[in-house]
Amino acid sequence: MSSIVAIVGRPNVGKSTFFNRLIQRREAIVDSESGVTRDRHYGKSDWNGKYFSVIDTGGYILGSDDIFEAEIDKQVELAIDEADAIIFMVDVETGVTPMDEDVAALLRKVNKPVFLAVNKVDNSKRLENAVEFYSLGLGEYFPIASTSGSGTGELLDALVEALPEDTREEDAELPRFAVVGRPNAGKSSFINALIGEDRYIVTDIAGTTRDSIDTRYNRFGFEFNLVDTAGIRRKSKVKEDLEFYSVMRSVRAIEHCDVCLIVMDATRGFDGQVQNIFWLAQRNRKGIVILVNKWDLVDKETNTMKEYEAKIRQEMEPFTDVPIVFMSVLTKQRIFKAIETAVEVYQNRSKKIKTSELNEVMLPILEAYPPPAYKGKYVKIKFCMQLPTPQPQFAFFCNLPQYVKDPYKRFLENKLRKEFNFTGVPVSVYFRKK
Ligand code: GDP
Ligand code: GDP
Repeated sequence: MSSIVAIVGRPNVGKSTFFNRLIQRREAIVDSESGVTRDRHYGKSDWNGKYFSVIDTGGYILGSDDIFEAEIDKQVELAIDEADAIIFMVDVETGVTPMDEDVAALLRKVNKPVFLAVNKVDNSKRLENAVEFYSLGLGEYFPIASTSGSGTGELLDALVEALPEDTREEDAELPRFAVVGRPNAGKSSFINALIGEDRYIVTDIAGTTRDSIDTRYNRFGFEFNLVDTAGIRRKSKVKEDLEFYSVMRSVRAIEHCDVCLIVMDATRGFDGQVQNIFWLAQRNRKGIVILVNKWDLVDKETNTMKEYEAKIRQEMEPFTDVPIVFMSVLTKQRIFKAIETAVEVYQNRSKKIKTSELNEVMLPILEAYPPPAYKGKYVKIKFCMQLPTPQPQFAFFCNLPQYVKDPYKRFLENKLRKEFNFTGVPVSVYFRKK
């Protein structure tokens, strides 16, 4: 379980430059494996052996040039709620601005590690100028230059030092489901419908982390942990329908679950915000179920559901092997189907295929459809195996792994899906030298 670090600050101070520097190294690895679209404002990083997720909060705000102060304040408040540590970035070129003072005032009250990064310190003159940021009352600051990387090592040393240790004991036996989606999609209603009014069959086990609470659900033959975040429970505090909020709220829950139940509002469609949450789940290699809620509000004709589903799948390309359940929390239509489906996806994700069985099925396919020759060389695949990872990953051993291109990997992924059923689960295919 990794910590979450939020980068806050007004526009143009260099947040995204710094963010990109942080995630670059790992990003390159992840993207070449999965071919997954990357979210430009959320990524993973590590420093001194400690892993953490980074969110560039500014990236989620549009028209950032004439951004309202109130907007930044909300952004900072949410970061304070949801993150484990905060990097507050300011710009030595402009010096202290009233907006910086505003943000500093919010951050001074916070009981979480806050790091003041004075950016664009490209030369010694600017290093002297940086002193004025003491006036923000946040104590020691880190003079950095995001473009060159100068000073960022010291900042990261201090940052990871302050991140909480991963102490949580996870109940490995039970599936962990997270209910995520944009505001107003019906997440709370869904959770209430599941655990609500009736007898209380739930226990709140406070996680060792401050913010997350797992709720054990055991009813109608289903048993799982609902991975909730304090953020979801405190949702009444923030009603704004901004992408930033739904992403920020979803990150922790998604990172800690096995399967994401992505609730969307049927009247709004599989829009950019929902897609972003979908990518987030995919990037984290979680199981995914799409729940199209408020289906009661949609006028239906013979093919409405089919057409609606086709449209969603189009947006999901290339990862389209994901279950879509049309439900209505209001009328309780298919809400248990939703859980049933999540359980299936969980099983698909934890599926382990014996090496003998795998080769029996895959070797004839590999023989009938070998990778195309590359530079006159033939790739010979000798055998394959599933790796002992929590989510399905397959290694194919061959003579020239570097010659196998993405389309062929996707071909194999699709064969694996067809033969073994990995619906709802991201599958990774690797080539290794043998
Ligand atoms: P954001 O709006 O806070 O995400 O800021 P950006 O990362 O987009 O950076 C805004 C501008 O500042 C860009 O033109 C960057 O090239 C520039 N910038 C970022 N870091 C530095 C730095 O360390 N030194 C200098 N001189 N410019 C920088
Ligand atoms: P959240 O922000 O995702 O937790 O959404 P809520 O659970 O607070 O629901 C937002 C609004 O949608 C509330 O007014 C709900 O009553 C309403 N709602 C939730 N599910 C349904 C549904 O299936 N059908 C209809 N018509 N309304 C729903």
